[in-house]
Amino acid sequence: MSDLPVPVVVDPETGGWSVDGQPMILIPRHYYVFIQMEMEKRFGIAATAELFHTAAARAARLWCEREALSHGLAGVEVFCHYLKRLTERGYGRFAVEAVDARAGRAAIRLEHSCYALEYGAGAKRRTCYAFGGMFIGAMEYLAAAAGLAEPRLMAEETQCRAEGAACCRFEVRPA
Ligand SMILES: [Zn+2]
Repeated sequence: MSDLPVPVVVDPETGGWSVDGQPMILIPRHYYVFIQMEMEKRFGIAATAELFHTAAARAARLWCEREALSHGLAGVEVFCHYLKRLTERGYGRFAVEAVDARAGRAAIRLEHSCYALEYGAGAKRRTCYAFGGMFIGAMEYLAAAAGLAEPRLMAEETQCRAEGAACCRFEVRPA
């Protein structure tokens, strides 16, 4: 497993995977995205987006808290490390174009989004909204770690590969 971009540890007893001490599972991309697709059919896109935002923000914040401790990272380093790890785990190629925890603002470019790839360009709409929740959770972590007031943030995918754009782009800003 030395070729993997993240240090996967497999427990010989349980078979469970972990990276940096955090439990992980390796799942097929199509399955991960099919969950969203099926939820959209059953509950609608707006309700699905809200659910993913909430769950993703909660997960991202916890992830950042744990990683900051295990790697001794602080501030914007944690945010950049988070997007680096998402990239290394195959969600797509993320680039932080701007991040300002105090202002509650960030801009992120994403190429090869796992959602856009699975939906295909024929989707003709933006499909990668779950990442917005992840960015919000990571920004919330930054604010909390800096002792700032709990921010109310929103994230928007402003363009998407699945609607024909060259890449996906996201903006985080105060709600
Ligand atoms: Zn997208």
